[in-house]
Amino acid sequence: MRRKGFLIVLSGPSGAGKNSVMNAVFPTIPNLKYSVSVTTRPPRKGEVEGVDYFFRTEEEFDELIRQDKLLEFASFVGYRYGTPKDFVLNQIAEGNVVIMDIDIQGASQIREKMPEAVLVFLVPPSWEELQKRLTHRGSDDHDVIAKRLQQAVEELKHIVHYDYFIINDELNRAAEQLRHIIMSEAARVSRIDLTELQSLWKGWGKP
Ligand code: 5GP
Repeated sequence: MRRKGFLIVLSGPSGAGKNSVMNAVFPTIPNLKYSVSVTTRPPRKGEVEGVDYFFRTEEEFDELIRQDKLLEFASFVGYRYGTPKDFVLNQIAEGNVVIMDIDIQGASQIREKMPEAVLVFLVPPSWEELQKRLTHRGSDDHDVIAKRLQQAVEELKHIVHYDYFIINDELNRAAEQLRHIIMSEAARVSRIDLTELQSLWKGWGKP
């Protein structure tokens, strides 16, 4: 039976393992679609245009805002990030579940605009572990890592605005938890298409 599409917002400090956790969940939920964000940040080694991000100039980003093409956008440690509106709305209209990796500012904009969205916060087990992961990733210099660590502490203070909290101490466990959240949210009565239910249950409405 078709269910209404909805949005999963996944936030958490960079280095929390959002990509790894999502990648473990994708093969298990066929109608789960990733919203590729637009950013003014330069690509990291190995990042692919249109897969990891749409990499754009500041001017191009301004133009997207001007044309109202972004569902939300925010600045993060010196760069801008935003969610393409059409993709998300189309996927939801088709009954898919859209997952997006966005920061706390973006999450609060989504909560305002789409109150039925599900907000999930993912964290590494500790500050020390996050520092270790960011350093080992080797993709950012020392200054950027320091800023991101500081940012992580600030972000954690916003946890109360989220619906779910996952600690990424073990990848498979964290992925399983995210999968359960998505499956449970999909089973909400509010996401049922009542017209379809009525046509399946012919006796509906009979005394
Ligand atoms: P990174 O540069 O490590 O890929 O991402 C930095 C931060 O930007 C992360 O916290 C990530 O969740 C956030 N981010 C990525 N895409 C978007 C987006 O479209 N909107 C917002 N608001 N934040 C985003």
